[in-house]
Amino acid sequence: MTAYWAESALLPTGLATGVRLEIAEGRFVAVEPDQPQGDAHRLDGVVLPGLANCHSHAFHRALRGRTHHGGGTFWTWREGMYAIAAQLDPDTYLSLARATYAEMALAGVTSVGEFHYVHHQPDGRPYDDPNAMGEALRQAAAEAGVRLTLLDTCYLAGGLSAEGHQPLGPEQQRFGDGDAEQWAARVAGLVPDANTVVGAAIHSIRAVPRSQLTTVVAAAEGKPLHVHLSEQPAENDACLAHYGMTPTALLADAGALGPRTSAVHATHLTGDDIARLGSTRTTACFCPTTERDLADGIGPARALSDAGAPLSLGSDQHAVIDLLEEARALEMHERLSTRERGRFTQAQLLDALTAHGSIGWSDAGRLEVGARADLVALQTNSPRTAGSVPDQIVLTASAGDVRTVIRDGEIVVQDGQHRLGDVGRLLSDAIDPLWRSA
Ligand SMILES: [Zn+2]
Repeated sequence: MTAYWAESALLPTGLATGVRLEIAEGRFVAVEPDQPQGDAHRLDGVVLPGLANCHSHAFHRALRGRTHHGGGTFWTWREGMYAIAAQLDPDTYLSLARATYAEMALAGVTSVGEFHYVHHQPDGRPYDDPNAMGEALRQAAAEAGVRLTLLDTCYLAGGLSAEGHQPLGPEQQRFGDGDAEQWAARVAGLVPDANTVVGAAIHSIRAVPRSQLTTVVAAAEGKPLHVHLSEQPAENDACLAHYGMTPTALLADAGALGPRTSAVHATHLTGDDIARLGSTRTTACFCPTTERDLADGIGPARALSDAGAPLSLGSDQHAVIDLLEEARALEMHERLSTRERGRFTQAQLLDALTAHGSIGWSDAGRLEVGARADLVALQTNSPRTAGSVPDQIVLTASAGDVRTVIRDGEIVVQDGQHRLGDVGRLLSDAIDPLWRSA
């Protein structure tokens, strides 16, 4: 048994002080406020549960600071994304993902939902192990000290217009499996382990035709199922033109919505879409730093929450890896679009920050007895946080204020240092060679 003592901590019942946290076999076995420090290891500042990054494409980390030339459009971003995707193999992806997940751990992330679609060799032929890329991600997460939900993504078509779906383009060949049956057969070869949940994803209604959706939904039975939804108005326009319904309605019709499903972005929705997502208890996964970087727009987060949709957060393309910034942006973007303050309480923001259940880890994300022993200690005496009261810390702290991260009882970050060493160096070593050969 290991004991920690938190100066203050955000418990399910609210802010508490002098909290003794006892850990055995990776779980909390005691969480008691108003205790003396005694023999326990001291955690200064405010202790939060481990954070959940529910939407990641690990390789997009290589695009940071590379897509703004000429002002940057969605298309300059996508060109860069394809250029990097073309460089990846299981070894280079292992290095890049390990460094990216280590950066997440430094930011307090203990579980990541990886929306994984770079499956095959650049010309589309499978590797000897058809899941070699997914296995690289599994190893990367384990080494970086982050739990992984591998959301293996069905990606069959190159796009959608009024006339229908286009075939995959040359740079998209490695994403595809031919059809949903073959995708499902490959994914069946991925075995969960103590650090890995295997889930599924529909890339989008642009990349998966209606005739294939039910096969994906059936294969995802009992697992987390994620889907990019209505990130840009063009997707809605094409879907309405071809199917005569919105992407949300199309997914509902295919049985794809429900409590195990997360709709990622959910930016451009009708009132009916919001009601459908809410009534089916589909999680809405917001990625505000990506949505603003790509000029997508501001989604109806509060309306979705009011309709019954739980909210989660993701760093998606990793323009920033700072879940606290995502939570703050959720509130601040609402303030800008409604001209009202206080759209979410700190408790609601904390729920979004700790939505591990939406990626299949329902026993994580709370400082309570029986839960997985994940915690994040934030310093309250940094230039950013000095003077903040602890119960407003989510609106002031940044990833740089994370001092200690424990996942399943194991120390991953201590005194702001990741156990793998210099993460900036790991990232440079992984990213620079990709651009030299791109
Ligand atoms: Zn995404």
